[in-house]
Formats: sequence, structure tokens, C-alpha cells
Amino acid sequence: MGVTLDLSRGPAAPVLRNLSGMSRAELAAALVDSGVVRPDKARMRATQLWRWIHHYGVTDFALMSDVAKEMRALLAEHFTVARPEIVERQVSKDGTRKWLIRTAPGIEVECVYIPDVGRAGALCVSSQVGCTLNCTFCHTGTQALVRNLTAAEIVAQVQVARDDLGEWPSPREDRRLSNIVFMGMGEPLYNLDNVAQAIDIISDGEGIAISRRRITVSTSGVVPELEALGTRTQAMLAISLHATNDALREQLVPLNKKYPLAQLMAGIRAYPGLSNAKRVTFEYVMLKGVNDSPAEAKALVQLLKGLPAKINLIPFNPWPGSPYECSDWATIETFAAILNRGGYASPIRTPRGRDILAACGQLKSESEKVRASARRKASSIAAHDGLTDS
Ligand code: SAH
Ligand code: SF4
Repeated sequence: MGVTLDLSRGPAAPVLRNLSGMSRAELAAALVDSGVVRPDKARMRATQLWRWIHHYGVTDFALMSDVAKEMRALLAEHFTVARPEIVERQVSKDGTRKWLIRTAPGIEVECVYIPDVGRAGALCVSSQVGCTLNCTFCHTGTQALVRNLTAAEIVAQVQVARDDLGEWPSPREDRRLSNIVFMGMGEPLYNLDNVAQAIDIISDGEGIAISRRRITVSTSGVVPELEALGTRTQAMLAISLHATNDALREQLVPLNKKYPLAQLMAGIRAYPGLSNAKRVTFEYVMLKGVNDSPAEAKALVQLLKGLPAKINLIPFNPWPGSPYECSDWATIETFAAILNRGGYASPIRTPRGRDILAACGQLKSESEKVRASARRKASSIAAHDGLTDS
């Protein structure tokens, strides 16, 4: 499939701003700017709307029963709280669910819910469509970057999952979606502003209320942004390490040429808030005959010395045309045993959702970069949910 631009839909529809990606302050300002709300009422209205959007999950102003009818109609003229279109929904035999979401013309993104991960279940969200980095074992890396997702488009992934799981209003207990991991498509630290804003929204106690301690951001090692990630989001940090020496890591994660291991490790050691209770997670993909020897396991223990860390061993998930094989199970177990003896918890991640290409590193959408002029044209004539706008 090529680019999904539908230029046949006329006539021009107004592009409505989606309120889901706005901070409380932005929400208040947008209400005033639109002329719908008087400045002295803005904070009160913003709080009211916030709860409807992020606690109750409503997608229609008409359902906001404590807002006057005329006000609801005015809001609907200027804004939207609608969801993006779900292009495809797949359920794996192991219960993993994957959604392909179209947030705007030509912008398609995947997210995955994995039950029994974290406290109850984790949602793996995307931060970009495609990726600028070309890690050689990663399917997303074969898809050129189309663009960064907006905060609204990141929050929308959580909303779609919660719609499907029946988690509105925000449950206090027995949540099925308890954790968020930024391990979907893209490099979150190349889109930190929108990722940080989305985390502010998702973690807000009067809304979706997923604690920052249950939100993990995974990076391939964009060292200069690590400190800002920690101070702005207080999220848990995960590092895609995959190799213990520069020569091999350069092959697997080409970003290592820019930020070699010594710099990366120094940046991680300085990550704000690291402690035994808030350890950094290292992800290590097990590639047969490439990075899985006992010597490399010992080197890994040396490299992490003194760091409060745990290591997730990820059996390589193949994708069409992938150039690697997954290590044998016995090799992975031997590797894990060496790490355990070295003092590091090192769970082996059972692959989830492989049958629907939903496992780590298997995500990819058909979106391709189109010339900005073509996208502008498409945006101006196709009605959409305004998720690109905030
Ligand atoms: N771009 C970020 C987050 C997305 S990738 C990052 O690289 O950290 C999420 C995790 O899946 C990363 O640890 C990545 O290295 C790993 N991964 C990528 N391709 C994989 C594959 N084919 N099999 C197993 N893990 C993979
Ligand atoms: Fe991008 Fe992460 Fe895949 Fe590397 S592993 S190509 S950084 S999504």
C-alpha cells in the first residue's frame, strides 16, 4: 500500500482543534482566544472540561451534562474531543492487542496493549511515525521518518486503548492498563517537547492518572536529552544498549557513532533521581552469534558496575526481510545466569503478540513521507480530528 491520501473528499471542512493534547493552561487560553469563555471563567471551565476529557473520556461535547447547552454548541463549533480513526484492530492469541490509528491524512501509527506486564498491563505507545535512526535489527528503522507525533496524537493512543479496554471513567483499582512504555515507533527523545506534554497529561491525577513511576521512556541513547527527560518528566528510563563495545554497537545502533558508550554511560549515571528504587532498565536484544556470548555477558556486568540497573533480555523478534536470527534459548539462559551472578536482575522478555507483528521492534506503518505541499493540500480539504493542531 502506498500513501493514504484521500483527495476526493470535498467540500472543505473546518479543522477543529482537538482539546486532548492541551495542558490545563493551554486549554484555558484556547477557550478565551476562541471567544467561547470569558477570561474570568476560563480556569473553572478548563477544569470542568479537563475532567470530562481525561477522567470520563467523553468524545462529544453533548455529553458534558454540567455545561450549558449553548456553551456545548459553541465549543463544538471551535473544538473537537473526537478520537482518531482506527484503521485496524488485531488481537493476538496471547491477548496482546494492536491498533493501527490514522491521526491525520497519511499519518498512521501503531500502539500495542500487552496484558500481564507491569502492575496489570502495559501500553506501548509510539512517539514518531517512522524513525530517523536505522538500528539494523528494528522494523521501524526501515520506515523513514514521516514526522513527530503531537501531544494529542500520543494521548490519543492511550484514549483508544482505554476505550477498547472499557477503562472510563478512570478506575482507581483493578486497572487493566497500569503502565505506559514509550517503546513503539520512533525515538522519543527526538520529540521530547510533545512526549513531555503527553506525560504531563497522562499522569495528571484528575485524569488518566497513571503515575510517572509507571511510565517508561526508552531511548537508543540521545545523550544530550537525558537530563531534560529526567527533570521534565520524572519518567523511568530505559536504554537500548544491545552491545558492550563501540565497534559492535555502531553496527547495531548507528547513533553510537555520535554518542559512544563512554558518553552514554556518563549520561545515564547522571540521570536525575536514579536510586535502587528507581533503577534504569537496559534493553538487550539477543541476536544469534552477534552479541550473545558469555564474554559479552561478563562485559555487560563490568559496564554497569555501580549503577542501579536491571536488564531486560529481549529475544530478537524477526520481521519480513530481517537480517538476524534470535539466539537459542539455552544461550539466552546462560547469558541471563551470568548477569544474575553479577548482581543484576535480568528477566527474559517472553515475546508477546508476535503473530500479529506487535512485539518489540516489529511495528511499522504504511505511512510515507509526502511532500509538505501535498499534505497541506490534503489537510485543507479533508475533515479530520484536529489532532495535528495542538
Ligand atoms: N526508539 C526507542 C524506543 C522504541 S524501540 C529505542 O530504540 O529505545 C523499543 C525497544 O525494542 C528497543 O529496545 C529496541 O531496541 C527494541 N527492538 C527493536 N527491534 C527489535 C526486534 N526486532 N526484536 C526485539 N527487540 C527490538
Ligand atoms: Fe528507531 Fe528505536 Fe527502532 Fe532504533 S530501535 S530504529 S531508535 S525505533
